[in-house]
Amino acid sequence: MYKNNKMKKNNEEVINSVFAIEESSRCLLCYDAPCSQACPIGTNPAKFIRSLRFRNLKGAVETIRENNILGGVCARVCPTKKYCEGACSRTGIDKPIEIAKLQRYLTDYEKVLGLEVLKKVELIKEKVAIIGSGPSGLAAATKLAQLGYNVTVFEKRENLGGWLTYGIPEERLPQEVVDNEIDYIKKIGVKFKTNVNIGKDITIDSLKKEGYKAFLIACGMQKSKDIKIKGSDLNGVINGIYFLEEVKSTGKYNLGNKITVIGGGDVAIDCAITAKNLGSEDVKIVYRRTIEKMPAERKSIQEVIDLNIPIFTGIKPYEIIGENGKVSRFKGVGMFDNSNLDIPAENVIFAIGQEQDDVTSIANVNLNDKGIIEVKEYSTDIKWIFACGDIVDGDKTVVYALKLGKEAAEKIDKYLNGKEGTR
Ligand SMILES: Cc1cc2nc3c(=O)[nH]c(=O)nc-3n(C[C@H](O)[C@H](O)[C@H](O)COP(=O)(O)OP(=O)(O)OC[C@H]3O[C@@H](n4cnc5c(N)ncnc54)[C@H](O)[C@@H]3O)c2cc1C
Repeated sequence: MYKNNKMKKNNEEVINSVFAIEESSRCLLCYDAPCSQACPIGTNPAKFIRSLRFRNLKGAVETIRENNILGGVCARVCPTKKYCEGACSRTGIDKPIEIAKLQRYLTDYEKVLGLEVLKKVELIKEKVAIIGSGPSGLAAATKLAQLGYNVTVFEKRENLGGWLTYGIPEERLPQEVVDNEIDYIKKIGVKFKTNVNIGKDITIDSLKKEGYKAFLIACGMQKSKDIKIKGSDLNGVINGIYFLEEVKSTGKYNLGNKITVIGGGDVAIDCAITAKNLGSEDVKIVYRRTIEKMPAERKSIQEVIDLNIPIFTGIKPYEIIGENGKVSRFKGVGMFDNSNLDIPAENVIFAIGQEQDDVTSIANVNLNDKGIIEVKEYSTDIKWIFACGDIVDGDKTVVYALKLGKEAAEKIDKYLNGKEGTR
């Protein structure tokens, strides 16, 4: 699988250099740059496309990197129709500029030429600890290191990257892209400690005694939500994110032929496509609302349709029927009418969203009535502890997690500079 990805990538590089110049010439160079305004992290497509168009590739790469340390990752997984491409003025004439592809071309070019436009900074300021190495923790770490702070990211898992490494399938996001961008962050000077679970292996209090002056909780949402219906404890009922995690690390999973995936987001789509790629022939998706309301990216939904994976909408799970303790059928009922769904299934995969683990083991901070860390502009009620990313907010996209990480870093900088003491 990995080898195929590499081959595909090499082919694309040859096509892309011609494509990139032609595509950048379609840009209308809008004065108000709606594409740039629509990017949560200010990646500034208007500026990098202009540089690309005038063959200033290094300048284009610099523009991306100045604002987005995970530019290569975002080029592959960002829901661009919601952000930059969705805002592109060219849409009114024919079709939007393929901004993600241009960004991908430039970040690949940077790697191939070893440009590395961001330089190592002297880390002479206070020690800051970041808990979690997902996109929000990585963005915060980069920003703080660029400001001169001595940053260490603590990660409880063996590998870095959060859901970039453990969730999003290899076909959509090659691991080498994630690893390259994390290596880049290491070169800037950020330190990483893996297999360290903050709250269990080591506490914030003990790190404070080691001289850390500020802490950022960026621990994401790690637990899969489940629905308790009759039969949900049968053998063959699978948790979506654990399924993807297993396939990503081992390349296999023992699935049946008839699969029902429950959910309508990126995770559900990834589960359905992954099941199909693993060889299950009869894969179906069941979603409780309409297709327009599915949170997944439009192009992913189209991919599912192209793979002949039917999507049953307006249906919620009712019961899973078993034979000899193993899943044999899935039953659903209509959300808006009296319809019923009764289909054969050997596995039912639940992909209905994530929730947080118990964060109070990390720090005894105030939680809101939903049990989520209560923050005011990234500050918790403990003045040296901050929080950002999926754990507090966000529309659950990589680019939004990056935005929150960057802004949290700015807030920590203000606090350590004495410009902001408490909430
Ligand atoms: C299968 C899947 C597909 C997705 N597809 C897309 C997509 O196509 N496009 C998109 O934009 N978004 C996608 N997302 C969403 C996106 O990945 C998340 O919004 C983003 O990763 C959130 O970043 P984060 O930094 O807040 O948290 P996470 O990525 O969850 O990272 C948090 C990190 O903190 C670590 N951690 C937790 N507790 C501790 C502790 N006590 N001590 C130390 N470390 C700890 C975790 O191990 C983890 O590595 C997808 C998510 C999933 C699961």
